[in-house]
Amino acid sequence: MNHKELCIHAHFYQPPREDPFSGKIAPELGAEPYANFNEKVNAECYRPNAELGNFELISFNLGPTLATWLEGYDPATHQRILDSDHQNVARHGVGNAIAQAYNHTILPLATRRDKETQIAWGIADFRHRFGRDPQGMWLPEMAVDTETLEVLAEQGITFTLLCPHQVHLPDGGWADSIRYYEVHLPLNRKIAIFLRDEELSNRVAFDQDMTQNAANFIHWCLINKNNANRLYLIALDGETFGHHQPGREHFLHDLLTVEAQRAGFRVTYPARHLQEHPPAGEVKIVEDSSWSCGHGVDRWNKGCTCTPGMSKWKGQLRTALDRLAGGIDALYLSETKDRVRDPWALRNAYIHVILGEMSGEALLHEYAAKALTTDESRRLLTMLEAQYFRQAMYTSCGWFFEDLSRLEPRYVIANAARAVRLVEEATGISLEDGFRRDLAQAESWITYENGADIYDQIIAAHPR
Ligand SMILES: [Zn+2]
Repeated sequence: MNHKELCIHAHFYQPPREDPFSGKIAPELGAEPYANFNEKVNAECYRPNAELGNFELISFNLGPTLATWLEGYDPATHQRILDSDHQNVARHGVGNAIAQAYNHTILPLATRRDKETQIAWGIADFRHRFGRDPQGMWLPEMAVDTETLEVLAEQGITFTLLCPHQVHLPDGGWADSIRYYEVHLPLNRKIAIFLRDEELSNRVAFDQDMTQNAANFIHWCLINKNNANRLYLIALDGETFGHHQPGREHFLHDLLTVEAQRAGFRVTYPARHLQEHPPAGEVKIVEDSSWSCGHGVDRWNKGCTCTPGMSKWKGQLRTALDRLAGGIDALYLSETKDRVRDPWALRNAYIHVILGEMSGEALLHEYAAKALTTDESRRLLTMLEAQYFRQAMYTSCGWFFEDLSRLEPRYVIANAARAVRLVEEATGISLEDGFRRDLAQAESWITYENGADIYDQIIAAHPR
């Protein structure tokens, strides 16, 4: 088939806002008249885009923690989003929704085992909602390394989306962003890589003048893109359409229902494009690269100049969490020893309990190596709950901004604190002293409080 194609991929995601101790969202300043930003963004973006039918026209991922919230708060919008994928499956045999790694963790910075859990949980959440296996997966911040792609392929994912600067041709040259490529992986596996068009994506995301009206956008940005048999992929945060840029849900609708066709574009999405076109060739990955840090993945690791001020706290916070994770895992292994057949497979399967698909007892029954006493079951389920918060503490927003004193790093520490408490409930062993010591190394350059101070504030607000 020879035609020029246009695809808009929207990454819909909100950092989780629930207090990990109560499960409730505290009122948020700035979200008025709404109680919090989830409600505000829903009113400005998710709901209107769903009502206009836009989810059917685009490629999209809906972050699992956001989807969980939306399902409870606005079930009609949640359902409309699911239906849009079903309609495409019915029409074209493949859907337009893709999955997302569960907790929006920066996967190159995660251990292989955590990568496996994040990807398995993301796939399970997708199946739970959309009722089918996902073909594609969105990588948080498009952060990638070969190990992440290996785990994706191992778990049946066939494509992801990246920026052109994250890949190169085998001879070292730059790949053109107009087609999809393949990365060859060990064990004869491969994964397709769709490259977003940087210029077009940035225009839509940041240039408000350009998206006032869809006809003008076509005229200014797409009129010279006359090459047949090419895909123009625009990938950006979905909240652009209505929240970051008011009214742009109508721009999106006009562009994809009228103006693109008028200019000779066929509107498509990656799974459909894959059915109809061969890859343009092979590319190699730029290890540890991402779409929103020019320093690889330093923004979420040791810190870099992407955020103002002293970013040293980022590395110290990550070290504290990594050491805590090591402590939790060691206790998890000793708790599961001789009681459970495969503790890591059990952790990956725990998502079915989180999703309400089965009870904790039924899950343990599947994985138990022997008959478990009531007390053993209770302890194991509490350790699994600790593993849930140990995963949540790595959500990328904790490191995205400039300072430790902000809400996002506090959220990360609060999840860690919840994991610490659950581990103590299960085993009687407290990991608090070591964690506080490590956290004390990380200091805010704005308020001068350190990570241990923040931890203490969280604990004080949540007495046993
Ligand atoms: Zn950076």
